[in-house]
Amino acid sequence: MGTKIVILGAGYGGVMTSVKLQKILNYNEAEVTVVNQHDYHYLTTWLHLPAAGTIHHDNCRIDIESIIDTNQFNFVKGTVESIQPDNKQVSLADGRVLDYDYLVVGLGSEPETFGISGLKEHAFTISNINSVRLIKEHIDYMFAKFTQEPDRADYLTFIVGGAGFTGMEFVGELCDRIPALCKEFDVDPAHVQIYNVEAAPTALPGFDPDLIDYAVELLSSKGVTFKINTPIKECTPDGVVLADGEEIKAKTVVWTGGVRGNSVIEKSGFEVIRGRVKVDEYLRAPGYDDVFVIGDGSLVIDETQNRPFPPTAQIAMQQGEALAENLAKSIRGGQITKFQPDLKGTVASLGKGEGIGIVGNKKVFGSTAAMLKEVIDHRYLYKIGGIGLVMKKSKF
Ligand code: FAD
Ligand code: NAD
Repeated sequence: MGTKIVILGAGYGGVMTSVKLQKILNYNEAEVTVVNQHDYHYLTTWLHLPAAGTIHHDNCRIDIESIIDTNQFNFVKGTVESIQPDNKQVSLADGRVLDYDYLVVGLGSEPETFGISGLKEHAFTISNINSVRLIKEHIDYMFAKFTQEPDRADYLTFIVGGAGFTGMEFVGELCDRIPALCKEFDVDPAHVQIYNVEAAPTALPGFDPDLIDYAVELLSSKGVTFKINTPIKECTPDGVVLADGEEIKAKTVVWTGGVRGNSVIEKSGFEVIRGRVKVDEYLRAPGYDDVFVIGDGSLVIDETQNRPFPPTAQIAMQQGEALAENLAKSIRGGQITKFQPDLKGTVASLGKGEGIGIVGNKKVFGSTAAMLKEVIDHRYLYKIGGIGLVMKKSKF
């Protein structure tokens, strides 16, 4: 029997590890099992689109069997409940237990609510296929309700909590979607209000000021009201309460205020910072040479800035590819190599045909940024599923 490798999570990190490992490993060199709670991989980086309803959610999911060869690797559809690193075992919610020699943890993130009262209960989040389906259905329903109770301004008031990249990208899509919804439900667009509420002194804190100005001006011109330097203090069934005491009544609050590592990691006893494991230079969890953590569950320090790299698909993919090489080296008795991120930049969409970004040290915005975003998205599809997948899932 070959070395047992178990990969938890088929997100950006887990899929890249699997796809690359399938290319490197010879037949029967290892027994690899991929575990994911759904039988599809979803494109987390596209989720703001189906959340607003500008594309169908099926466009963002891909059958795992179409990207991972299940003749070569086992696929287990199941929910990971806990990891027992001292016993080298993983327990699934349905009672199954998997043994491993090497474990890859790529379980992604969960919303970070910072203990803000009411957020868990009353706010929506852009986290997975079903969470964004709910947002889309809810928004449609709010329009339908408004047609019956036109004095209820709260039905058509949409609050997005957090003006990080997720919040700004979602607001951009929402601006694109509203005119179509107004037409569909015979609603005067003047009744719709979109707020983007941000705690920090600017939207997109830490990003390039010119690009922030561009994004805020563009979205403001499309009707978004930004409330900057204004933390959300509480979320209620009726809306939000801000730190300055103002209350905004809204039946839709979408929380995009940040993420933390999947709680399975912390529950399993690993040392974490905001749910993330500070991995060593080989992506290993401290104290466990056989447990690798990648993607949003891992914390890698950017030595040049002396702070963690932001959790992104870009770094998750690079970690996955590097780890696949190291896993192959490990089972062949070779020397493993250090992970060195090679980040190319950041590009964000702001609705159709609009965006902002920095690539290398060049700023891009408008249609150039939007086009670049499509290229990045398609490059990923190509990497995991070749030209066939690009043709099938292309947003063009
Ligand atoms: P994920 O891709 O989230 O995958 C985690 C996987 O684990 C999922 O398949 C999930 O079903 C599975 N899973 C979770 N819990 C369990 C369990 N208990 N049992 C079994 N399976 C489980 N980053 C960029 O670099 N560029 C972008 O343009 C960009 N855009 C974004 C846009 C949006 C709207 C959002 C929300 C994020 C964006 N990001 C972007 C961030 C990026 O999506 C994440 O950093 C990336 O998805 C992390 O990859 P991952 O493999 O760690 O987790
Ligand atoms: P984030 O942590 O980057 O942003 C969250 C924002 O919410 C911050 O600006 C924060 O100040 C704000 N916030 C926190 N508490 C608040 C409060 N009480 N009231 C109001 N605002 C509050 O989270 P995100 O935008 O979900 O992004 C998560 C990760 O995914 C990041 O690493 C990001 O870079 C990445 N991402 C990248 C892209 C892209 O590259 N296009 C798109 C989306 C997400």
